[in-house]
Amino acid sequence: MKIEEKIQVPASERVAFHYVCDKCNKPCRGDEPTVNYEVAGVEIHVDSGESYPDGACVDRIEFDCCSACFTEHVIPALEALGFKPREEDRGW
Ligand SMILES: [Zn+2]
Repeated sequence: MKIEEKIQVPASERVAFHYVCDKCNKPCRGDEPTVNYEVAGVEIHVDSGESYPDGACVDRIEFDCCSACFTEHVIPALEALGFKPREEDRGW
């Protein structure tokens, strides 16, 4: 006899992170909307600690900033402090 039985399958869920700019609340860090093959992304962080072959103890301080705010606010602020941008062609 073939018996049909409906079995409840629990929905799976996963944790996903999305990042927004601390200043303007727009998506950032790879979540920025782009057109066609445009590239946009900003990572601002500093790592400190120790790294060994079998493990690491590293603390990270990071800021979430979109590319528009980086260009409009962060670059001028860094330049005002004396930092000089280094530009390079990343194409291939
Ligand atoms: Zn922003």
